Amino acid sequence: MKDFKKIIKETSRSNRIVAGFNVFGYEEAISVVKAAESIHAPVILMTNKFAVNHMPVEYWGLLLKKIADDAKVPVCVHLDHTQDPDIIARAIHSGYDSVMYDGSQLPLNDNIYYTREMVDYAHKHNIMIEGEIGSVGYSDLSENIYKSQFTDPEEAGYFAEKSGVDMLAVAIGTIHKLDKPNAEIQFDRIAEIEKATDIPLVIHGFSGVKTEDIRYLKGHQIGKVNIGTAIRQAMGYVLRDGYINNPGVYDRMAFMADAIEAAKIQAENKIRQLWYE
Ligand SMILES: [Zn+2]
Repeated sequence: MKDFKKIIKETSRSNRIVAGFNVFGYEEAISVVKAAESIHAPVILMTNKFAVNHMPVEYWGLLLKKIADDAKVPVCVHLDHTQDPDIIARAIHSGYDSVMYDGSQLPLNDNIYYTREMVDYAHKHNIMIEGEIGSVGYSDLSENIYKSQFTDPEEAGYFAEKSGVDMLAVAIGTIHKLDKPNAEIQFDRIAEIEKATDIPLVIHGFSGVKTEDIRYLKGHQIGKVNIGTAIRQAMGYVLRDGYINNPGVYDRMAFMADAIEAAKIQAENKIRQLWYE
């Protein structure tokens, strides 16, 4: 897993945070890696459930591992929110460095029980694993089957200890898929969680975090943040304009160089804010 467990632990204790980006193909992945190389920072390429429903996790593993191996900076390949143990096992055997088992919808003791099983399996294969306590909700109504619940600091400490995860996603005010940065971060809650556990914390829904809040988050125990919407938007705008303004062009590669560049600029902005400023 390269040194990512160490990198995440160190960043959780420093004024830096590793950026994780949800990617949906070669183009997003290469734009994120180029951005990380230009800033000389480590980065995490993540596939979510939509990505692995669209293309088998084995294909993702081969593609992203090759991109990671060829990169000039440390690149970790991570499986985002997964509830199906079979997909986690397949990812672990397909080149992923890190996985997330999401038991956040389960009662606490079930979450601990099933997460612990996945932790034992992942660690046996030298793979890093993330769990979730509390539940980060979605702005997207099609996802409203997921409950949204702020993390109870005491439960976070208990869960971290009993489950044995390497990093812990917490719900402290961010929301998935916010298309504008207007999340209300509960810094008091983060401080209470930090008193309960020294495990590296993960913030999901980072595209919704206000720029002025990033610098305060960096002073906390955050090891990784998950970014999806910012990159999707950058690439989506370019592709939509390309097709609309060029009705005779059908080859998406005609627009991809510009889309990669737009996503790269967004990724650079986020990585720079998290790693340096
Ligand atoms: Zn998430």
